[in-house]
Amino acid sequence: MRGLRFASAGFEAVLRVVPWAFAVGIVPVVFGWGGGHDTLNEFAAELLPEPVKAVVPEAARRDIARFSHSPDDFTPWEKLDKVTIHPDDLAVLLAHNMKHPYSLHSAQGQAVNFILLTRAFQAQSPERIAYWSACLLHTFADEAACNHDPLIHVITYAFREGYKLDLAPTGVLDFAQVSRTAADREIVHAMLADYQPSVLSDDPQEALVQIMLHGLAANEFMTQRGARIAGTFARTASPEQLADGRAALAELGGYGVRTGADAIWTAYALAAKGRVPDLTPAVEQQYQARAKAFLAQRPLAHDSLFAEFLAPVGGPAIGVLVEPSQSMNHARLGFSGKYLSAAIMRTLRGAGTACRLVDIREADFPSPEQMPVAILCAGGFNDAPTVEHLRAYAAQGGHILLIGGEHRDVLGELSAGLGKAPEARLPVTAKYGQNNADYLAALRVQFTGGLEAELGTEPYPFRHNPDTKAGWQKPRCDYVLTTPQPEVQILARLQDGEQTFAIAGLLVDAQGKGTAAFLPEYLVSPYLLTDSPALDDPSRLELDEVGRRLLLQVVKRLSP
Ligand SMILES: [Zn+2]
Repeated sequence: MRGLRFASAGFEAVLRVVPWAFAVGIVPVVFGWGGGHDTLNEFAAELLPEPVKAVVPEAARRDIARFSHSPDDFTPWEKLDKVTIHPDDLAVLLAHNMKHPYSLHSAQGQAVNFILLTRAFQAQSPERIAYWSACLLHTFADEAACNHDPLIHVITYAFREGYKLDLAPTGVLDFAQVSRTAADREIVHAMLADYQPSVLSDDPQEALVQIMLHGLAANEFMTQRGARIAGTFARTASPEQLADGRAALAELGGYGVRTGADAIWTAYALAAKGRVPDLTPAVEQQYQARAKAFLAQRPLAHDSLFAEFLAPVGGPAIGVLVEPSQSMNHARLGFSGKYLSAAIMRTLRGAGTACRLVDIREADFPSPEQMPVAILCAGGFNDAPTVEHLRAYAAQGGHILLIGGEHRDVLGELSAGLGKAPEARLPVTAKYGQNNADYLAALRVQFTGGLEAELGTEPYPFRHNPDTKAGWQKPRCDYVLTTPQPEVQILARLQDGEQTFAIAGLLVDAQGKGTAAFLPEYLVSPYLLTDSPALDDPSRLELDEVGRRLLLQVVKRLSP
């Protein structure tokens, strides 16, 4: 039941997130697997090397599964009712400012968890070994959970739970769904058959750094499989595709099992030599430096939603600016920009428009000759080098389409006209959860400025509510054109039932040629203003009919 529960509306209930700029200083909270934690910890307990099993009798090993959800809990350690934390462990936790089990999810929390596990082996306490093993397995597994993939995230929290789009019921999301039946377990067992326990390092400090880096590696492993798993939601999926998508999901669980078992084996080995790690500033510095180096090198191809767009393109091409995933919703642009950029690429290719992905980490930003138009799904747009690149590019004559999000003044006079209108009733609110229910039905979008021929003169209501209750992908844009600029043509207006706001604009030169454009993300984000075309295969997402027409028109106006 648990697996099924998380496969349906229940999954949404376990996700609590704060999208990009919603709350400075508030830590986003996201739960990974649901029922999958139980089976995953069971597999890991089975897989432990014999010397570990020798000090953890079977009853305690069962606790590894029993405590598999422990870290998803904000109860202070002292008030937990299912477990009593040993006073020595409590002292270590509090010394590191870890106040409740949820704090074990961070890299620092995992380091403290690993220290406690090593100490538990030293104390030869089966109960403490089981508890700290269960917790570390949980947070490791979370980091490879597929609801943190940009494509799976939008499919789940927007298209399925939020918009109630008609997706295939074969879609899988939780490891529990591919590890419950005897046949499924056989597949997972076969995947784990070649597992050889390996010690992360004989050096306790190095082992600790590797524990802290787990989240980055796990995210990369996971996003490499996102598109395959997304394919299980396709109504057009063949039996082979379905099996492949289920196998990809099982691989994520298997990854958590293997890496978790290796960490437990390492704690055992260190304890046997009396070498307990210590979370020192030097370890923290090593972790930060290596995390930075890892992200600088992480290939774009390891985001499976980008993989098909990376072949070199000859000649000038429209550039879609992207970044690789990091972990959870960390991003220099926005989390939702990844899936939206992939959908834009597919839409442009479908229209026969030359386009390519541009990695924002590249030092050599393309010139306007190579890239006549740059498209940026900006989100929080918190990346100074990209701001500088775009300003220089615009100064050289490059044309920018910014889908915002933040604009950071890269659009010249168009940016000068953008401002926030606190009185506007916008389709996506800045607060967590759905907050527009009392006025969404009154909202209308009217396209103008020459778009009428493609998009009609009739105002569009919202078919689905973009202000979803959960998710990192709310297509939020707080900006409207507050200050009229003579060179800015209005492309769309939002009627909120009482007032009308200009929400999209095109900056034109003396010849009337577009040089920069701003579109709010909720105008481009699929399936808000239309249900067409039907979403047969969300693993190959394109813009919807309104988004496609809008994008192609704006790109045409910006192209030389
Ligand atoms: Zn968790």
